[in-house]
Amino acid sequence: YQYAVAGVQQLVPYVPGKPIEELQRELGLERVVKLASNENPLGPSKKALAAMQKAMAELALYPDGSGFNLKKALAKKFLVDPAQITLGNGSNEILELVARAFLAPGLNAVFSQHAFAVYPIVTQAAGAASIVAPAVHYSHDLQAIRERVNAQTRVVFIANPNNPTGTLLSQPHLEDFVKSLPPSCVCVLDEAYYEFVHSKGEQDAVEWLGQCPNLVVMRTFSKAYGLAGLRVGYCFSSPEMADILNRVRQPFNNNSMALAAAEAALDDVEHLQHTVKNNTLGMKQLVEGFKNLGLGWITSAGNFVSVDLSEPAYPVYEALLRKGVIVRPVANYEMPNHLRISIGTPEENNLFLQALTECLNDV
Ligand code: PMP
Repeated sequence: YQYAVAGVQQLVPYVPGKPIEELQRELGLERVVKLASNENPLGPSKKALAAMQKAMAELALYPDGSGFNLKKALAKKFLVDPAQITLGNGSNEILELVARAFLAPGLNAVFSQHAFAVYPIVTQAAGAASIVAPAVHYSHDLQAIRERVNAQTRVVFIANPNNPTGTLLSQPHLEDFVKSLPPSCVCVLDEAYYEFVHSKGEQDAVEWLGQCPNLVVMRTFSKAYGLAGLRVGYCFSSPEMADILNRVRQPFNNNSMALAAAEAALDDVEHLQHTVKNNTLGMKQLVEGFKNLGLGWITSAGNFVSVDLSEPAYPVYEALLRKGVIVRPVANYEMPNHLRISIGTPEENNLFLQALTECLNDV
């Protein structure tokens, strides 16, 4: 295995949240609460489920490899041309398409400390180097990122809000940053948690696309739309950029059930509003709980929050597991004292807070 490229040798693989069934089996617990992967605790829209049922009738056929209907629906909703849209098998695949198209040995990608873990994976898998800019107060430091962009930089990854910190950049700063990048550098603006922010009236980065031919605005159906298991992500860009990404894409990267469900989910505005409301209330509930326990946390614009235990968090993560609560340790993000908690239903949040209180008393 010493023949794997040098960057891959140095990579730490992505570790997903522990599956519910695994913990149930291990501990013989009936009830397990998973608040570990920023999923939608309300589940998918019923309209999406109905659309999947319908799509089942055509499973012998290949899916629509161009994603015509989903692109049309996205284009209508976000006022872009379908030719500006690329679909991915989860937005993780879009990250991979960008890396495949723009990165190679001798080139590099720049991103922030504490940024989403898949950026180094796709970068180093393409044989390119990862350049990590220091963060300020757990947030991306756009100036530090800009200063690290050099002649070999082909991609900058910005997560807004970032996972696992939940930090949000101000739109004017972000716009100036995107426009300051050299034409040789693609800017991937990763907005996986867009729907949780947009309801707060933030300006939309899609509006900059006309002036930013190298901008890729990336979103997903995994979070607010509750379709993580189906793997549908998408991005908006210039048509020229979409053409490049399309060249390195697998022909049928989204399956028919996923395409049908995503299209229907987009239409269910009520479910989305319900989801965002649950998130706002759940965030308040958790933050209140942290305050009562005397714990700090990082203010988050996403559907998760990272709490500061002021001590190594891994033993508390393990103690929570034993009580049937799965959260996410984030030591691999250089945050060894934090745990990231996804917002659940009010009942799930409560069970987590109770378990955390007991664990902190025990540990
Ligand atoms: N970007 C960010 C910032 C994320 O947190 C995630 C999911 N953890 C993704 C992208 C990828 O999500 P998906 O592939 O499910 O669309």
